[in-house]
Amino acid sequence: MITCEECKGACCREVSVEMDTPVNLEDWDVIKWMVAHENIAVFQDQENDWLVEFKTKCSKLDVKNRCTIYKVRPKLCNEYPVDDCIINADEPAEKIRFDTMEEVEKYIEDVVKAELLKKEEEKKLVNTEVCEA
Ligand code: SF4
Ligand code: SF4
Repeated sequence: MITCEECKGACCREVSVEMDTPVNLEDWDVIKWMVAHENIAVFQDQENDWLVEFKTKCSKLDVKNRCTIYKVRPKLCNEYPVDDCIINADEPAEKIRFDTMEEVEKYIEDVVKAELLKKEEEKKLVNTEVCEA
């Protein structure tokens, strides 16, 4: 396991914020727009939650990769588990990850459109069954 002393403060160099699960092509268009920006990624984690990641260094990290406010650092930092952090976790945090607009466009063509079509057909089938009942 890598210790925090050996690490370059990897967890202090990004912020991830939960976002709504994309459910239609408009939502996917928003994801395309987000990742077109520098230092922004979007991913789905192992719990199926969707997050937007801002790759940006915390202003409290010094040049030696030490927290300059260690004793009063936010609870979130204090409670972050080193044995399950982005460096030491057994599996990557992401199931799916997009760093570029092109990756999103490919995923829309390869996966999303087929999934949306399937859902639409299932909905039609349910409506037909309801009408026939
Ligand atoms: S918790 Fe993990 S990612 Fe953060 S500094 Fe320690 S080893 Fe690095
Ligand atoms: S406050 Fe300290 S521990 Fe928290 S992200 Fe910033 S540098 Fe890292």
